[in-house]
Amino acid sequence: MPHICPRCHSNLVAKRNLARKAVGTIGAVSGVVGGVVACAQDGGESDNLAAAVIGGMAAGLAVGIAGARLGEFVDQNLLDNYQCLRCGYLFSDGCI
Ligand SMILES: [Zn+2]
Repeated sequence: MPHICPRCHSNLVAKRNLARKAVGTIGAVSGVVGGVVACAQDGGESDNLAAAVIGGMAAGLAVGIAGARLGEFVDQNLLDNYQCLRCGYLFSDGCI
C-alpha cells in the first residue's frame, strides 16, 4: 500500500525504520557479548572458545531478531516512520 504525504500529497515517501535499526543493532551486539560471556563461564576452557563464540553469535542473532521486531513495533506505532522525499515532512501510519 503506497503512502501519501499528508502535507503535499506526494507518493515519494521513504520508510525510515530508525528504532528497528537501532534496537536490532544494540540487541545483536549485546546478545553476542552476553552469549560469549555466558558460554565462556560455562566451559571455562580455551577449547570451548569457538563454541562460546558460536553460541554467542546464535544468542545475538536471536536477540537481534527480537529487537528488530520490537523496533518495528516502535517505528510503526510510536515514531514518525515515514518521510516525504519531496517536502521532507515526517509522519507516521497513524496520521494517514
Ligand atoms: Zn510531502
